[in-house]
Amino acid sequence: MSGIPNLVEGNKAYAASFTQGDLALPPSQKYAVLTCMDARIDPAAAFNIPLGAAHVIRNAGASARAGFRDLVISQQLLGTTEVLLVKHTGCGMLTFDNATASGLIAKNKGEQAAKEVEDLDFLAFPHLEQAVRDDVKWLKERAVEEGVKVTGWIYEVDTGKVRNVV
Ligand SMILES: [Zn+2]
Repeated sequence: MSGIPNLVEGNKAYAASFTQGDLALPPSQKYAVLTCMDARIDPAAAFNIPLGAAHVIRNAGASARAGFRDLVISQQLLGTTEVLLVKHTGCGMLTFDNATASGLIAKNKGEQAAKEVEDLDFLAFPHLEQAVRDDVKWLKERAVEEGVKVTGWIYEVDTGKVRNVV
């Protein structure tokens, strides 16, 4: 199955009624949400983000380390001053470690593929709340994040609710 029909057909309908083509490049509400790429999360709807208001940065696990480049660009080039880091229940990153991922790649794709990812840290984590705390702490320790407000949250995929951790 391909995502192309969704994109092509859905976009026609979207563009037909699109009226917000005059928004400014920098996010109007000056914050960034760093969340997981999990397909069950709809950040704009679940976190009430109007178009043009905030950066939404997504990666596997809402990893601060993996999203660091994007956050620095968001802050230094586009003026955001706050980070909401939102991990979630049922995250796939709670279910494996580097050895498991490397083993899978070797099995599925062969030795050359395994070699290509041998230095990759998949940044999985075994405990959800602790991972939120660790990532917020890691961000707050960066000199480049000085003066940036950083908070950590958990989104529940089974209820749609979000709660503050730190
Ligand atoms: Zn996830």
